[in-house]
Amino acid sequence: MNLKKKAFELRKDVVEMIYRAKSGHIGGDFSLMEILVDLYYKQMNLTPENFKDADHDRFILSKGHAIEALYVVLADRGFFPKEDLDTFGTFGSKYIGHPTNKVNGIEMNTGSLGHGLGVGVGMALAGKMDGKNYRVYVVMGDGEVAEGSVWEAAMAGSHYKLDNLTAFVDRNHLQISGTTEQVMNLKSQENRWAAFGWNVISIPGNDLDAVDNAVALAKKIKDKPTVIIAHTVKGFGVSFMEDKLVWHHRVPNDDEYQAALQELDRRGARYE
Ligand SMILES: [Mg+2]
Repeated sequence: MNLKKKAFELRKDVVEMIYRAKSGHIGGDFSLMEILVDLYYKQMNLTPENFKDADHDRFILSKGHAIEALYVVLADRGFFPKEDLDTFGTFGSKYIGHPTNKVNGIEMNTGSLGHGLGVGVGMALAGKMDGKNYRVYVVMGDGEVAEGSVWEAAMAGSHYKLDNLTAFVDRNHLQISGTTEQVMNLKSQENRWAAFGWNVISIPGNDLDAVDNAVALAKKIKDKPTVIIAHTVKGFGVSFMEDKLVWHHRVPNDDEYQAALQELDRRGARYE
């Protein structure tokens, strides 16, 4: 399947999961779907077969609340049966509302924000020390980069010249309690990361080709880590959810559920 269409099909799976469980973070899931699709279907050396090996690429979803997007991608890639997700959010299920390494394919428990990049730095440094060729990918939310620990990790990443590390900032300008600029001024991400010694690539983050080009470019950079500032739209794919704070954590009602699936169908069909 065309991967641009795939990103819309996977969003439909997210809608189904969240509608069924009556819980989830649909806006943030939709915001980063093109990033996940590019990494898991094109760029990463990470499969159900090599996940337990020492040489596979590492992925950390530091904005752990966007777990529904990661679950549907992992299921589609064969890390576990898709039917397992029918239990999402139910008592006793391991498919909970944040990443847990009890689930096959998940590297790190996340969701307490600000921790993923530091762990990613450690994994990338370990790879260098052990002479491994794996790469490390970390996806952060833009609200998340208000955490001080992110910037400690950023310093360490450039200090150790971790060119095997690529971070993303999902720059959708919204977080749980308002716009990012209301909560904590984050302008300009590009200048801030450059000042910390990172290679910076700025892209439209819901454009799969742009994501793919940026990830490929990052692989060629030597002696510095790369951050991809992905300018995205929260809720991307369903017009009434796009750039609307309420969809950070809202569950679609019956009418919204139907309308969302129909629009995702329609927009995905452009890529057949
Ligand atoms: Mg955000």
